Amino acid sequence: MEKLTAVKGMNDVLPPDSAAVEWLEAKVRALMARYAYRNIRTPIVERTPLFVRGLGEVTDIVEKEMYCFEDRLNGDPLTLRPEATAGVVRAALEHNLLYDGGKRLYYMGPMFRHERPQKGRYRQFDQIGAEALGFAGPEVDAELILMAHALWQEIGLVDVRLELNSLGQAHERLEHRKALIAHLEQHAELLDEDARRRLHSNPLRILDTKNPAMQPLVEAAPKLLDFLGAESLAHFNTLTEILKANGVAYTVNPRLVRGMDYYNLTVFEFTTDRLGSQGTVCAGGRYDYLFEQLGGKPAPAVGWALGVDRVLALARGAGLPDVGPGLDAYAIVTDAAALPLVLSTLQALRAAGVSVQMHTSTGDVMGSMKSQFKRADASGARFALIFGSDEIKAQQLTVKPLRDANVSQQQHALADLASWAGTLQSHA
Ligand code: ATP
Ligand code: MG
Repeated sequence: MEKLTAVKGMNDVLPPDSAAVEWLEAKVRALMARYAYRNIRTPIVERTPLFVRGLGEVTDIVEKEMYCFEDRLNGDPLTLRPEATAGVVRAALEHNLLYDGGKRLYYMGPMFRHERPQKGRYRQFDQIGAEALGFAGPEVDAELILMAHALWQEIGLVDVRLELNSLGQAHERLEHRKALIAHLEQHAELLDEDARRRLHSNPLRILDTKNPAMQPLVEAAPKLLDFLGAESLAHFNTLTEILKANGVAYTVNPRLVRGMDYYNLTVFEFTTDRLGSQGTVCAGGRYDYLFEQLGGKPAPAVGWALGVDRVLALARGAGLPDVGPGLDAYAIVTDAAALPLVLSTLQALRAAGVSVQMHTSTGDVMGSMKSQFKRADASGARFALIFGSDEIKAQQLTVKPLRDANVSQQQHALADLASWAGTLQSHA
């Protein structure tokens, strides 16, 4: 029979690597709690029009990256979410979440995009994102950026740069758009196919091109920042003042436009040179018009999303701390008849917070003491718990340290478990 494999670009995350993901998620949960962001969980499948309306028709995602299918029963067009912001806003509208004021939310989970798989670019990948809904002020843009910055510090990321830009408001972009199209038309021979197609539908996105041949052209293009009015500039300036006051370095990148149509005012990316061409680890911005675009009452909003794979690749490069679960004890059992007593002892230990792995028999043969000790060693446990026949008779067990030669072996009565269980815990 043909061997069954995972879908290309959709990866299994196996232990011990999965421990790093759990470690990052735990750091994020604690961080979000400190900034008063609460967890939201939206479905992985949404109706296709949500993304078409939310992200914009002339975007990489909607044009070529979505996994679309029809509901088997009624033919409804459905899509595996390529990003979560549209779904979060849909949920906020559907449940009238903003009825009593703004909400700070975060999510973690898989996204799906039909891209060419390569290092740092997959077809199923995890994102962690934060969204502040219903807040118009630049201090919330700043809060989100400070929060991401704090995360990099906490997990030991180095060499992450912050790039900032402002996309202003629609009327400002309109003026800029005219100038931009004129500039690009003047050099029409330098435009690639994508750019020619977008010249009149979404010229701003041409600035986001990854084609090296077009770099001189886009570098010389008129800058949106030069078209901003006083209000947009004030928003941008307050943000940068807050960042400066908090020692967060940034560069203004006038060509930063972001892939989705829904952004206005602040846009930003955290990037690194350490991951080759997949250098954006976190990206976000303000999207004050998405609520309206999805048919709701207008509400300002701002958020970011980070790519878990890329952040972890960077964290690994910087030297991850030992993030494995760590095992306190390994139970060695010589006589199968003792198993009921052994298992109830292990249950009591686990209830006391001790992590313990039980030796497992092959059939009803428990294996020699020697082979069990080998397994105990390989498990990484700090102690072996020996349930030998002498011990069982005496209603005791032997606790033998496996890692620390300075600690001596001890016997404990099973009945006094509460008094010694704590000594097995690394974090006791
Ligand atoms: P890129 O320019 O690299 O395609 P993007 O603009 O499409 O990125 P966003 O939609 O803003 O990315 O997603 C935010 C983050 O999610 C990215 O900065 C990246 O870290 C991660 N990401 C996006 N697409 C992928 C993917 N296909 N595989 C892995 N991570 C991804
Ligand atoms: Mg992309």
